[in-house]
Amino acid sequence: MIHDVIVIGGGISGLATAYDLMQRGLDVHLLERQVRTGGNAISERFDGFLMEHGPTTFNASVPQAVEQIEALGLLDQAHDLGPDVKRRYLRDNGRLTGIPASMTGFLTSNYLSLRGRTRILAEGLIPRHKGGEESIHAFTARRFGREFADKVMDPMAAGIFMGDSRELSISGAFPKLAEMEQALGSITRGVLRARRGSEPGRHLYSWDGGIGTIPQVLTRHLGARVHTGIAVSGLGKTAHGFAVKTREGSRQARAVVLAVQPHVAAQLLERVDPVGAETTGRIQAPPVNVGFFGYRREQVAHPLDGLGFLSTRDNDRILSGVQFASTMYPQRAPGGFVAISAYAGGVRNPELAQADAAELTALMHDELAEGLGIKGAPVVTRLRRWPLGLPQYALGHPGRRTKLNQSSDRVAGLFLTGNYINGVSVANCLASGSSVCKRVAEFLHGAGPVAGRAGKDDLKYSI
Ligand SMILES: Cc1cc2nc3c(=O)[nH]c(=O)nc-3n(C[C@H](O)[C@H](O)[C@H](O)COP(=O)(O)OP(=O)(O)OC[C@H]3O[C@@H](n4cnc5c(N)ncnc54)[C@H](O)[C@@H]3O)c2cc1C
Repeated sequence: MIHDVIVIGGGISGLATAYDLMQRGLDVHLLERQVRTGGNAISERFDGFLMEHGPTTFNASVPQAVEQIEALGLLDQAHDLGPDVKRRYLRDNGRLTGIPASMTGFLTSNYLSLRGRTRILAEGLIPRHKGGEESIHAFTARRFGREFADKVMDPMAAGIFMGDSRELSISGAFPKLAEMEQALGSITRGVLRARRGSEPGRHLYSWDGGIGTIPQVLTRHLGARVHTGIAVSGLGKTAHGFAVKTREGSRQARAVVLAVQPHVAAQLLERVDPVGAETTGRIQAPPVNVGFFGYRREQVAHPLDGLGFLSTRDNDRILSGVQFASTMYPQRAPGGFVAISAYAGGVRNPELAQADAAELTALMHDELAEGLGIKGAPVVTRLRRWPLGLPQYALGHPGRRTKLNQSSDRVAGLFLTGNYINGVSVANCLASGSSVCKRVAEFLHGAGPVAGRAGKDDLKYSI
C-alpha cells in the first residue's frame, strides 16, 4: 500500500505537520523513533513539582501558531506568566541586576553605564545597514552600542540559542529585527509601533500539564496514524514516491516530510538529496544540560520576582540562563516551595556534556546558591542531558534556509521541517508544520492519483 504522506519524527514539528495533513483528509502516517512523541517537549510531574525538560513557554508572537493552539482547544486553558513576574535579571561578574519589564527598563536601571544608556537613545539616528549579513553582536553593537551588545544581546543569544552572538546570524536568528531596520530605519520605532498594537508577543503561555500538553493533544488527535518506537534507517526514491526503511520493513508514500534533527536529516538525505544532506550537515546543535531544583521558600533569600536571569560570559561560571519556574507558572511547585530551572552547556561550555551528573548538579546548585542566596541543599533535583541541544542559526543561515525550504524543487515530494530551518521556538515549529503541510497538499494535488506499487528495483536507500 502506498500512503499519501509519511512524516518522519514525532516532535512538535512532525506532529503539527501530520495533524494539518490529517485535517486536509490526507492519508498520513508518522514514524517516531522514541516510545513517546514530543521530541524535546517533555513535561514531568513528580512530588508536586513540574519539570520542563525542554521548552518552558509558548511565545504568542506567532499569529499562525496561536490559531493552531486555538483550533486544538488549548487557548482557553493556557496560563500566561504569573503576577510576580515583574522584571528580568541579568548577571554580570556574579552580580544580578533586575531590569523592569518596560521599554525604559534599561534606561532606568544601572546595569549599563551612563554612556551605554545614552548610546541606546541614539539608535533611531543610526542609518540603515547597506552591507551583507551581520552577526547578532555586530548588528546590535552598530545600532545600540557595544556595551548593549556585550551585556544584553550576548546573554540573550546564550539564553535562547545556547549560542554565541558573534557567530549567530541576525537575519537567521532574529529576522524580525533585521527586517524592522530595513522597513522602518529603527528598531526602537518598530518596537514602539508593535506595542501600540495588540502586543501579541508579550504573552508567554503554558498549561497545567506544561508544554508537553501540546504534543500530547496532537498525538491524541492523530490516533493510530502515529507509530512510536519505529526508527527510520533509510530513505529511497521510487518510481511513485518514496520507500521509508525501518527495522520492521519498508513503507511506501507519495510524499515524505522529514521532521528530525539536522544530523539525522543529513544521514537520511545523503543519497536522495545530496544538497539537502550537505546543508543540514552544516547545522550544529551543541549539547545542553537542564537542571531542575526545588527548595523550601525560606531557603531562598532572593525575591524570585521575575522570569529568571541570563548571564554574560561570567568568569568560570557555567549557567547561561536560569528560570524562576514557579514564579513564571505558580503550579510548578507545591505550596511553600519554589522551583528553579538552570541551563548550562551550549556553545559556551560544550565540554559539560562529559561532566559527571552528580558533579554537574552540584556545580549548578552552588551557582544558584551564590546568585540567589540559597541556604542548604535542594529538596528535589533532576538533570536532563540533551546531547544535541538547540540548532545554531549561524552566519549563512538565510541561504541554508532557502535551500532547505526548496527540497521539493530538487526532489519532488520531499519536504523538510524542524526547529533548525524557520525558527527554533515551539510556536515557529507549529507554524512551519502548517506551511509545509500546504506545500505537501499542493504537491499531492498536482501529482495526481497513485499509479501503483513501486517495484523493489526502484529502491535506492540513503542508508
Ligand atoms: C532545553 C531546551 C529549552 C527550550 N526552551 C524553549 C522555550 O522555552 N520555548 C520555546 O518556544 N522553545 C524552546 N525550545 C526549543 C523547542 O523546544 C524546540 O525547538 C522544539 O521542541 C523542536 O521540535 P522539533 O519537532 O523540531 O524537533 P525535536 O523535538 O528534536 O523532534 C525530532 C523528533 O524526531 C525523532 N527522530 C529522530 N530520528 C528519527 C528517526 N531516525 N526515525 C524516527 N524518528 C526520529 C526524535 O526522536 C524526535 O522525537 C527549547 C529547547 C530545548 C532543548
